[in-house]
Amino acid sequence: MSKVELQNISKSYDKQADVLHNINLSIEKGEFFVLVGPSGSGKSTLLRMIAGLEEITGGTLKIADRVVNHLPPKDRNLSMVFQNYALYPHLNVEQNILFGLRAKKVSKQEQQERLKATVDMMGLSNLLKRKPRELSGGQRQRVALARSVVSEAPLCLMDEPLSNLDAKLRAHMRIEIRRLQKKLGLTMIYVTHDQVEAMTMGDRIMVLNNGEIQQVGEPITLYNEPANLFVASFIGSPK
Ligand code: ADP
Ligand code: MG
Repeated sequence: MSKVELQNISKSYDKQADVLHNINLSIEKGEFFVLVGPSGSGKSTLLRMIAGLEEITGGTLKIADRVVNHLPPKDRNLSMVFQNYALYPHLNVEQNILFGLRAKKVSKQEQQERLKATVDMMGLSNLLKRKPRELSGGQRQRVALARSVVSEAPLCLMDEPLSNLDAKLRAHMRIEIRRLQKKLGLTMIYVTHDQVEAMTMGDRIMVLNNGEIQQVGEPITLYNEPANLFVASFIGSPK
């Protein structure tokens, strides 16, 4: 259902030089795929193209065997969690979680069923009437995750979702996200610039630098057999 294929994907903004070059990649259904690289390497651009929030200027993008280059985000059957969570400040937790479902014309009854299952699972049941400003960073993060989970989309895209949290909460949320992804069988594309996050969370990792793939592989492979010095120093292996 949710295999993602990138064939010769490239991107340039406003006819400037490419910020991504010839990206070829296949992400399997149910895989936790981590996209890692330094700031400015093109991670968010790639994720936003998959989401449909950024025009693809070269190549072909397929989701579930269908070319989606020109499909609007709402027709791609995916959910997205951003770095800043992007919660609506004037809506309470329940309204924030259900926001996306209203546009999809999910019935009131089904909305309530999905809401209950999701907030129970995420430990948010007693916070439903609070506004985002009345929540801690970790709670806001869980609301953003709940909003993504409640959509029941098989493909989930996350762009540095933990970067605003303190170290302890970050460590906790890594485990939480991995658990959720496994439980729901989600295909996950997870962007981070944090090597530890990449190494501990990913089934596979892709290292990006200057818009080019440096290596794709399992964490242990990147560590033991880095393709080049960049990967070695970025991952922290002793090559
Ligand atoms: P990352 O998420 O890895 O930090 P980005 O995808 O945000 O990298 O950026 C990759 C490159 O594209 C950077 O050089 C950045 O300046 C450029 N870029 C990103 N967004 C835009 C935009 N809207 N217009 C022009 N250039 C952009
Ligand atoms: Mg980014």
